[in-house]
Amino acid sequence: MEQEIQFLKTAVEPLLGWYRENKRDLPWRHDRTPYTVLVSELMLQQTRVEAVRERYVEFLRRFPTAEALAAASEDEVLKAWEGLGYYTRARNLWKAAKIIAAEGFPRTWVGVRALPGVGDYTAGAVCSVALGLPMPAVDGNVLRILSRLFADGSNVDDPAVRKAYASALAAVYPPEAGEFCEALMELGAIVCVPGGAPLCGKCPWNNLCRAHLAGREENFPVRGEKRARKIVKLNVFVLKCGNEYALKKRGKGLLSGMWEFPNWEGDAPASASATSPSVPAAEVSAPASEPSAPAPSSEPSAPTAEVSAPAPASEPSQPAPAAEVSVLAPSSEGGRGVGVAPELGKVLSEKAAKHVFTHVEWHMTGRLVEVEAKDPRYVWATAEEIQNVYAVPSAFKIFLEWVK
Ligand code: SF4
Repeated sequence: MEQEIQFLKTAVEPLLGWYRENKRDLPWRHDRTPYTVLVSELMLQQTRVEAVRERYVEFLRRFPTAEALAAASEDEVLKAWEGLGYYTRARNLWKAAKIIAAEGFPRTWVGVRALPGVGDYTAGAVCSVALGLPMPAVDGNVLRILSRLFADGSNVDDPAVRKAYASALAAVYPPEAGEFCEALMELGAIVCVPGGAPLCGKCPWNNLCRAHLAGREENFPVRGEKRARKIVKLNVFVLKCGNEYALKKRGKGLLSGMWEFPNWEGDAPASASATSPSVPAAEVSAPASEPSAPAPSSEPSAPTAEVSAPAPASEPSQPAPAAEVSVLAPSSEGGRGVGVAPELGKVLSEKAAKHVFTHVEWHMTGRLVEVEAKDPRYVWATAEEIQNVYAVPSAFKIFLEWVK
């Protein structure tokens, strides 16, 4: 270990020099406060920089301080987060803002780590960048670049490996803690990239990196096997009555607290598929996806998530002709369906879509159904209200094309 620490020490200065010359101009690198650093770090969890850029600016325009965020309602916060996915982060940030507004921003790693939604990685990043503390932040990027630098064949999904890398980094942290932390992230984001060949010609470590010197960059990092995603079939009904549409609020679990169109799990109703031509699946492409279970304090190992699977080799979906059908009625909870309600409405259109979360895929069959009466179990909202007031997850965005 001591040898590795000495080796790592030689990599610090070249990295800092490279970072000062090459860092990207990102909005969260200006006018920082501990609160804005926390906002950016939570937004960047599992989400691409490009997806965060504008949303970060808009979010801070709306909630410039922890006090402003703490004073907002949950629905306002979720709406401001719309499209970023992983909505548990928004709720946690809101809870953290209430603590910060009441008690001030914590000044220690333990205090930062205790904030809702903050795991080891985010605590390290916030402490380094916002507070200047030498606390390592080890995410998938850092695991990748260090495993290449060391040409280390250990499985980086093993928590012991993450811990060993964090200890090695802690031993070499320079006084410029924030810069060092960001330089590691930047190198992983723009030079020592995942998925494909790293850009070693542009790397400040190319005369040190053991994987590069051995021509084995792509042999690292070594990872464990991925588990297959669970497939969930979902029926989605966009119920239209006049110029209003039915919405319901999701309960606990995935996308908790978000607004959705009535839907339930299971195969498409036979009566509907008998009267409407089958349509090919369209891929719902979202800037971010939601994990299958909230992970408020144990962060995923990689900063970027898979957001969409390869597009299916099929024609774009076509609207089906209007057809009188019977569809499964919403249950008394307004969701997971039971029973049959003949002539619930007229199906105006139908399309299939897929949305990929980290651990789950939703294979959805959506129908636009015109109904004659408003079911009081739902909230009924106009297109404008859905656009401006209700936070609808990206998974359902494809069906918003029907909401006009
Ligand atoms: S030299 Fe290549 S493999 Fe090594 S850290 Fe740099 S970019 Fe990554």
